[in-house]
Amino acid sequence: MNRTNCPGLNEKKILKLENISELFAHALVMEQEAVERYAQLADLMEAHNNSRIRDLFIRMSEIEQLHVDEINRQIKARGISLYPVERYNWISPEAPESVDPADLHYLMTPYQALSLAYLNEQRAFEYYSVVASTTRDEETRSLAKELAEEEEDHVAKIKIWLERTPGPDDDWSFDDDPPWTQD
Ligand code: ZN
Repeated sequence: MNRTNCPGLNEKKILKLENISELFAHALVMEQEAVERYAQLADLMEAHNNSRIRDLFIRMSEIEQLHVDEINRQIKARGISLYPVERYNWISPEAPESVDPADLHYLMTPYQALSLAYLNEQRAFEYYSVVASTTRDEETRSLAKELAEEEEDHVAKIKIWLERTPGPDDDWSFDDDPPWTQD
């Protein structure tokens, strides 16, 4: 993929991660946020009495937790010391994979919750893809590629659910100007 295909990524904010410690530091925060956001979305679906989508989000939260565990394991095994927070180069105010808590109160429906998850998985995929295509460090590129592939798989999973879920047209509470479509 190239940069122009990445919504939310502009030239100024393009990432250049030049070593694997930087990538681990970013990935850890991103994946941790994804764990928390999926747990929040699961609670939201609980409030909607939608146990199927609640269970999906719980599963996604567990999958992201496995990433966190794996990244922590590798950080430890490699004796990597993480960069301080101010060194992070996020492409959005929060980690790319996370759902902005400010958006959560807009989530009136399972469809909207899934849309938000979809957007964030796609952002995570794009984030790792951009890192993979811009870094000059071979090890960083190969880890970023691996992470991008996993995120691509998450995008596909959420997409299946999105397609199965009654869309906004079927729903009284659809907001045709949801906050997460604004740049
Ligand atoms: Zn993911």
